[in-house]
Amino acid sequence: MSNDGTFNPFEMARSQFDKVADVIGLDQGARDLLRSPLREYHFSIPVRMDNGTVEVFKGFRVQHNDARGPGKGGIRFHPQETIDTVRALSMWMTWKCAVADIPLGGAKGGVICDPHNLSAREQEGICRGWVRQLARNVGPVADVPAPDVMTSPQHMLWMLDEYEQIAGGHYPGMITGKPVGMGGSLGRTEATGYGVIFCLREALAELDLKAEDTTASVQGFGNVAQYAIELYCQMGGTVVCVSSWDQEEQTTYAFHKASGIDLEELKGITNRFGGIDKAKAKDLGYDVIPGDDWINREVDILLPAALEHQITDQNVGRISDRVKIIAEGANGPTTPEADAVIQERGIFMIPDFLANAGGVTCSYFEQVQCNMNYFWERDDVLTRLDKKMTAAYHSISELASKQKMYMRDAAYVVAINKVASACRDRGWV
Ligand code: NAD
Repeated sequence: MSNDGTFNPFEMARSQFDKVADVIGLDQGARDLLRSPLREYHFSIPVRMDNGTVEVFKGFRVQHNDARGPGKGGIRFHPQETIDTVRALSMWMTWKCAVADIPLGGAKGGVICDPHNLSAREQEGICRGWVRQLARNVGPVADVPAPDVMTSPQHMLWMLDEYEQIAGGHYPGMITGKPVGMGGSLGRTEATGYGVIFCLREALAELDLKAEDTTASVQGFGNVAQYAIELYCQMGGTVVCVSSWDQEEQTTYAFHKASGIDLEELKGITNRFGGIDKAKAKDLGYDVIPGDDWINREVDILLPAALEHQITDQNVGRISDRVKIIAEGANGPTTPEADAVIQERGIFMIPDFLANAGGVTCSYFEQVQCNMNYFWERDDVLTRLDKKMTAAYHSISELASKQKMYMRDAAYVVAINKVASACRDRGWV
């Protein structure tokens, strides 16, 4: 928490880092370097709106560390975006790329805006303006953006087009998450959600549980949540609850069905922002409950896949005794205070920068394919993704069980050691 009592994700990312830096006895130079981003850009994006007026949007790009390769990280469009959120997310990207063992560093970007209230043309203006401000500081060998919360393949293509207009050539590896057929990779859309479930599959095996004997409750019903649910259900699991943000009422709702949700049926009544239609859900037999009731369901698995700061000291006590695994699809959903309680209760944690590393791993595959100008089949992409995620999972779970360490701490140890040694090898610290 900040001094004023508000949640500050960057302080949380730092406190997680400090805890592990102490455990591994990280030297002061490396500690100082890795506690802060290498670079950050703050800029204004003027956009001519449909009504003829000009609106100026605030944009950010933070490059936390690029010792292991070009920066990598999404761009979020969010009305409550803050620089400290972007800083925290860029730091988590550094750890995520290290854990996934891909040769990329950590970065993140954002724009304070609400796409719900912007036309496609206005959003295109923001995308092109973002690139105009940053064309010298991003690119295939420097920093490679990607989609994230409320940004899409179309946004990425506008950004690529602007970059190529400025650079005067074709540079499809400048950005990932592009539409398939325009430099995008097959499998990217499902990669993050599937990656969460590849990890979950390994955790279930480790805990001697069968997917078909388990139930799950999911926070969120967007890209990550939907594909995670798809694969988990294919493995035989049952999802009894999902939740989503209600734009009209500016609050969240849980959608519960004890016999298990029907993914396709729910997708049919969900808008492009992952918001589920409450009235239609009621007609389909769902209990529609206001608030964060997804968290207190009697299930084996909790899957937060909406946004940061969702499992806190305020609601962690409502997690049922039955819960055995939490797989963090979202970035930073659990605060350190709640994390301590989860650790104490012995719930098996698959931490965010391992669990949701499928997206960045597939983004890396996209870059490789763009550089070769040769594109792989979907099955080929997903098989490679499974191999990478499974290897990443085991590199952490083996350390965790050998050292009797909490999974999040083990993931941090692996990541920080890798990044610190890259900085040392380069002679930075
Ligand atoms: P999305 O915009 O597609 O979906 C977000 C979902 O969360 C929507 O269903 C929305 O209704 C819901 N939501 C928003 N606020 C909520 C709240 N307060 N309570 C309950 N539900 C709420 O986003 P996404 O791409 O699925 O990303 C979800 C999370 O996963 C984010 O933390 C993101 O940073 C992280 N992530 C995404 C990717 C990716 O490839 N998309 C990769 C890594 C991490």
